[in-house]
Amino acid sequence: MAEIKRTGIGVSPGIVIGPVARRSHAAQTVQPRSLRESEIAPELQRFRRALGTAEKRIAKLAEQVAERLGTESAGIFEAHLMILKDPMLLEPVEQMIRDERVNADYALHQHLEELARQFRNTKEEFIRQRVDDVHDVGRRLIETLQGRRRRRVRQPDKPVILIADDLSPSETALLDATQVLALITEKGSQASHTTILCRSVGVPAIVGAEGILEVVKDGDLVILDGTSGKIFINPNARTTSRFRKARQVFLGFEEELQGLRDEPCITKDGHEIELSANLELPVELNQVLKAGSRGVGLFRTEYLYLASRTMPGEKLQEKEYRRAAEAVHPDPLVIRTFDLGGDKQPAGMEFPQEANPFLGWRAIRVSLDRPRLFRTQLRAILKASTVGNVRIMFPMISGKAELERVLEVFEDVKEELRQSGEDFDENIRTGIMIELPSAVLCATELAPMVDFFSIGTNDLTQYMLAVDRNNKLVARLFRSMHPAVLRGIAMTVDAARNAGIQVGLCGEMAGDPTVTMLLVGMKLDELSVSPVILPEIKLLVRSMSLEEAEQFTARVLTMEKADSILQACREHMSARFPDLPIWAENIVSSGTRN
Ligand code: PEP
Ligand code: MG
Repeated sequence: MAEIKRTGIGVSPGIVIGPVARRSHAAQTVQPRSLRESEIAPELQRFRRALGTAEKRIAKLAEQVAERLGTESAGIFEAHLMILKDPMLLEPVEQMIRDERVNADYALHQHLEELARQFRNTKEEFIRQRVDDVHDVGRRLIETLQGRRRRRVRQPDKPVILIADDLSPSETALLDATQVLALITEKGSQASHTTILCRSVGVPAIVGAEGILEVVKDGDLVILDGTSGKIFINPNARTTSRFRKARQVFLGFEEELQGLRDEPCITKDGHEIELSANLELPVELNQVLKAGSRGVGLFRTEYLYLASRTMPGEKLQEKEYRRAAEAVHPDPLVIRTFDLGGDKQPAGMEFPQEANPFLGWRAIRVSLDRPRLFRTQLRAILKASTVGNVRIMFPMISGKAELERVLEVFEDVKEELRQSGEDFDENIRTGIMIELPSAVLCATELAPMVDFFSIGTNDLTQYMLAVDRNNKLVARLFRSMHPAVLRGIAMTVDAARNAGIQVGLCGEMAGDPTVTMLLVGMKLDELSVSPVILPEIKLLVRSMSLEEAEQFTARVLTMEKADSILQACREHMSARFPDLPIWAENIVSSGTRN
């Protein structure tokens, strides 16, 4: 049998070999039925009763998940309970039952299809995720209406690699990690709830493996690498032997990384770096804690907006912030105020049509123009700050006048809370993102006004080099290692140093192992990275000395081209740490690391 290779997106690490069990989602069959006038009211009642039953079932599932995976993971299903009450799901269905006189299951099915059509091409991850969740809830409701219980993924009786077109968050949460060796799906994306749950459950996973169900049969042997996304169906002897070696290396490496979980991120000559995690969704908190992070260096709060159609109220926000702060306590939680606009435009908010949204109404500009939205968030953050470890950070600050306005509002909100006798942390640390070239050039004036800087290299690169961060046509020009960006970082560090404040870096660059030595040598106090890569970065920092990093950085900073810098970093790091498997783009097919 010839070996077949496929690639998907590796989303949960692990190298696995095993037999396949396929699972195709049988499409839900829903027949239309015309109702007589007298049947409409009972049908609406039947729909409401089904809502009640589904609510009980989801609440039970949330409980089970909380027990197994922790309250953060269970949060996904709390969100499902909210969807059950969401007018976006309910109103169109009830209207269709009334106006078109059709049965509830059919109306719901039609509505779900319509939603799928509307959102099929959206690039916004949060919205896609939200639509997936609405579908998960909708399918459950249809099953309830049809008098069936939720079809659980049949738990296999021997360990298998499960291959499916898609798996809903509720199905994923119930996977038994001892029987499901790994998961491959045709659909899905990097940050979907299904992906996040796979990591929490500890099941290696690849998503987005389009067409894989067409080439794989039950019982086929498959090798997969959950980091690189490589899949080998019926591998030949050579691949299998390479795989076995790679797996040994991977397991040894994992064990080494696991051993570092509670160790500090400190260089061999005693220079400590605060290594914290970026958080997009509270459900990732489990992973942040497991990775051995020193708190959260960037909590992107936009999910609160993007996941709902209405403005998240003060109470809800306070609850979310408090929960995250308690989870990482006593380590810090840096809450960044809303960075809406640009490519993050929530459905429930009016956004103007702009020719250049990234140069337009975005982040702090939106907050300053919408005082109610801004003040509600500030109140919620301040109230949650009684946990003791909350810090606040403002995005996209352009200069001194703007920061003065922001701090004025902040002080005013604090005073309002004092007047009404509400508690908050009077010493709450305040920081700003340095992500605009203007902020870099004015860093000297900005530094004395705050307690810390965090450099956002995603936007700093975009704005410094005039390269849209989401535009594929210019993706190859997006270089955080461009000398201009590096000089911007160096200037920011100098300004912070002179003012005696802390300076960190939270763009994607912080989690790129190729530049770890360069960033250590630039004397950043903090690196905030994706939890997936955090253990590797810690291992690297602990394997180098500050002295050698400074020497390397001094050499790199004299280079004049992004390409030379990139090459120097690659060569130096792979020569200096040849035994680490992280340089291999894909472990299985490189086969040389043993
Ligand atoms: C950045 O710009 O580098 C950053 C961390 O913020 P975001 O990616 O959320 O814009
Ligand atoms: Mg940014």
